[in-house]
Amino acid sequence: MTKQRPYLVGITGGIGSGKSTVAKIFAILGIPIYYADDRAKWLMSHDSELKKAIIEKFGRESYSESGELNRSYLAAHVFADDDKVKTINSLVHPAVKRDFESWAAAQNSPYVLKEAALLFETGSYQELDKVINVSAPLKIRINRILLRDPHRDEKQINDIINKQLPDEEKNSKADYVIKNADNKLLIPQVLAIHQELLSLAQN
Ligand code: ATP
Repeated sequence: MTKQRPYLVGITGGIGSGKSTVAKIFAILGIPIYYADDRAKWLMSHDSELKKAIIEKFGRESYSESGELNRSYLAAHVFADDDKVKTINSLVHPAVKRDFESWAAAQNSPYVLKEAALLFETGSYQELDKVINVSAPLKIRINRILLRDPHRDEKQINDIINKQLPDEEKNSKADYVIKNADNKLLIPQVLAIHQELLSLAQN
């Protein structure tokens, strides 16, 4: 009998919502987690097809002579321009999709989680069976990020927030919402969703 692919579940949420924290709880339950944003960065330095596409679009300077990603060049010439950011995302997205699918197929688990900041914004939620949104009030999110990343100020955080879909919209698109305000316990919410995903994946 051929092994079935695991059920594919996305976990997203705005900056500071707590999606990595929630993903860690699922990891403790034994669920494999694919950290899409970290993996995208890795693929930009290591996936030869993606590197070729980036060089074709943005020039040889995108990489150093020894083949390492030229982050300062890209920060100045690509990431400062919203249209170019869209272009580079359209190159990175198929590489992450390929990588995620082959990673998922190799996991021995009823379901796996793909953690990403922008699942709805990029359309990649359509490649998943279910999506969880981690939601928290804006003020709490900003305070958490100020505590976690002392190098960031409130303006930088607001600039990132303004590029993400509002929480209410993500909540209405998601299959499950985990509320991560200070007065809500995370573990019971995670356990309830975990049980439901296990039964969906096994039927
Ligand atoms: P980013 O989009 O920046 O990666 P994120 O959504 O993954 O953020 P986390 O890194 O999980 O968010 O959480 C942001 C910060 O808030 C972390 O320092 C985390 O420890 C803290 N945090 C998350 N949830 C809670 C909570 N329920 N109570 C207190 N602190 C929390």
